[in-house]
Amino acid sequence: MAGIVPPMLLVFGPRSTDYDFGPGHPLTPRRFGPGIHLLRAVGAVPGLAPEPALDDELRWLHTRPYVEAVKRLSSDPGGPADAGIGEGGDDPPFAGMHEAGAMVAGGSIRAIEAILRGDVEHALHPGGGLHHAMAGRASGFCIYNDPALAIARARREGLRVMYIDLDVHHGDGVQALHWDDPGVLTFSIHESGRTLFPGTGGASEVGEGRAAGTSINVPLPAGTGEGAWLAALRLILPELAATFGPDIIVSQHGADSHTWDPLAHLEVTTTAMGEAARLVDELAHRHARGRWLATGGGGYDVYRVVPRTWALTWLAGAHREVPTATPIEWRERWSAEAARYGQAPLPVQFTDAPNAGRPMDSAAQAVERRALSVAALVRRVVVPRLVREATDRGWWPASTLHPASGPAAPPTVALPTAASPAPAPAAPTAAVPTAAPHIAAVPAVPPGPRTDPIILVSVDAATWSRLSLAPRVVAPADPAVGHAILLAAIRDGATVVAAVEGATIVGVVVVGPVDELVGVATLLAVGVVPEFRRRGLATRLLAALPEGGERHAEVTLAERDVMEPMDRRSRALIANRLLAGAGYEIEPAGASVRTIDPSALRAVRASDRAPSS
Ligand SMILES: [Zn+2]
Repeated sequence: MAGIVPPMLLVFGPRSTDYDFGPGHPLTPRRFGPGIHLLRAVGAVPGLAPEPALDDELRWLHTRPYVEAVKRLSSDPGGPADAGIGEGGDDPPFAGMHEAGAMVAGGSIRAIEAILRGDVEHALHPGGGLHHAMAGRASGFCIYNDPALAIARARREGLRVMYIDLDVHHGDGVQALHWDDPGVLTFSIHESGRTLFPGTGGASEVGEGRAAGTSINVPLPAGTGEGAWLAALRLILPELAATFGPDIIVSQHGADSHTWDPLAHLEVTTTAMGEAARLVDELAHRHARGRWLATGGGGYDVYRVVPRTWALTWLAGAHREVPTATPIEWRERWSAEAARYGQAPLPVQFTDAPNAGRPMDSAAQAVERRALSVAALVRRVVVPRLVREATDRGWWPASTLHPASGPAAPPTVALPTAASPAPAPAAPTAAVPTAAPHIAAVPAVPPGPRTDPIILVSVDAATWSRLSLAPRVVAPADPAVGHAILLAAIRDGATVVAAVEGATIVGVVVVGPVDELVGVATLLAVGVVPEFRRRGLATRLLAALPEGGERHAEVTLAERDVMEPMDRRSRALIANRLLAGAGYEIEPAGASVRTIDPSALRAVRASDRAPSS
C-alpha cells in the first residue's frame, strides 16, 4: 500500500494523562497541555494511543512480587508502603497506578513494534522515558521502565540496541536492567551523582564480565552549559555508534538538563537539546537503518522548556527546519497558566539565547573545561584507539553533521557510509603477494591451505584497495568503514601488516604514523577474525611488523569484539600475553585511565629492543 508514512510517529492518547502522582508532584500531566499543543502546531499528529502493556511484557524485566505490589497499592493506595511506593516519597501511591504505569510501558513497546515492523522509521513517545524504575522497585517518579522494556522487545528479535539518555539524571534503571547484556549499549550524560539524584552514573560504571564497555556514563559537574554538554555528545556518540553497530536506537530526551529546570543544576538550552536530537537522528540513519524510538523523560519547567524540547525532538525526527517563532496562539493559550506556576513569559523562539544569556565568565569557563575533560577521559577508555585516531587524524568523519576538529587533512578517498556497499571484490588471490613489489610474505609462512593465511608486510594503498576486510577484525563494526579508515591511514603513513586468505583480510596489526618529534609510533589495533583466533596469528602479525622506532600502546576495555566480547579479565590477560610476547614492557595505564578501567594497561617497546628481521 502506498500510504504516507508519518515522518515521526507521535505516541499520545486519551490515557497519556492518567500517569499522575497528584497535585504538587513535579512530574505533572499538565505538561501534555502545552506540550501536545506545540507539537501539533509544528505539524505532529498523534498516531498511536498508549494502552497498558500486558503483565507478561512487564515481567520481561520486572519481578512478579513487584508487579503484585504495584497492583495492591493501585487498588488500595492507603495500604502499607512497599517497593519504593509510599506517601511522602518520590513515588506516592495513587488509584490506578498499575494501569497508568503499564500504559506508559505499552506506549513505548507498541512504538518500537511499529518501528520493527517498518511502519515508521522514527517514533516519539513524550510520556515515556521513565528510566529510573528498577526490576523490583519504583524510583524517581518511575513505576515501570518503559525505555528498558522497549529495548527488551527489540532484544527478543535479536537486535543490538544503543540507548542514549540525555536526561539530567543518570539513566540508572535502564543501565541496571541491561547491565549484563553485551548486546545493549547504554549511554547516559547527566549531572554528577555527587550533586544530584540518584547518586550513581560515575564514569567507572562500565558494565561487567562480557558486557564490560557497554555501560557508558558521562557525569558532568553542576553548572555545565550548552557548549560542553553538546560537545561531549558530539565527541563520543558518533564513535560509539560506529563501534557498536546498533540495529536500533532508543533515546531519552529528558528536558531537565535545561538551565531553567527547578530540580537540577546543569545550564543546557533547548538549542543544544534540539541539536542533540538531530545528532541521534543522524546516527540512526547512518548505523541503524533509520530505526529510532525517542522518549520524553524528566523536565519540570513544563511551560517554557518541556514543550519546546519535545517539538525540537519531533522536528529532528521529521527532518524539518525549526520554525522561526513559537506560535502566538500557543503563547496566548498558556501564558496565564504558566504565570500561575512562575514559568512565564513563554519564549518567542524554539531555541534559546546563546548560553542561555549567561556570561561566560572565568568560573563558567572553568566548569566547561572540567566537563570536557571528563568527556575526553571517558572517550579515551570506551572508544577503540583506531576509531579515535581515525577522527583525530582526519581519516574518517564519525559524524557528517559536525566533523570533529582534528588536523584538517581531508580524506583522500570517498569514504563509504554504513549503508554503502562493501568494497569491490579484490583481485585473484594468487596475484596479491606477487603483484605488489612492496609486499613480502614472511618466509616462515608459505602460502598454503585455508588454515594458514598469507602475511603481507607493510601493505600499500594499492594492495589494500584490492582486498576486502572481513567483519570483526577491527573496529568499527562495519568492515567497509574499517577498510576505508585503514586505507586513509596507510596513505597517511600508518604501517599495516595483514593476514590474508584469498582476497580477504582476516587479521591486521596497525601502527600509526611515527611522531617525527619524538620518534615514537602508537600501536592502534591488533585484530583477527573469529575463525582464526587462538592459533597464534596475532603473534605472527606482531612479529612481522617492520623494525621501527619506539612503540607505545594503551589497551582498555574498548578493545574487544563488540559482537561476541570475551570476559573483561580474559581480554586484559590476552592483551598482556600478546604484547609481552612481542617484546613490550607492560605496566598499568595512567592513574586517570584506571579510575574508569582498573585493568587498562600501557605497553612500551623500546626501539633498541626491536628484533631484527
Ligand atoms: Zn531521521
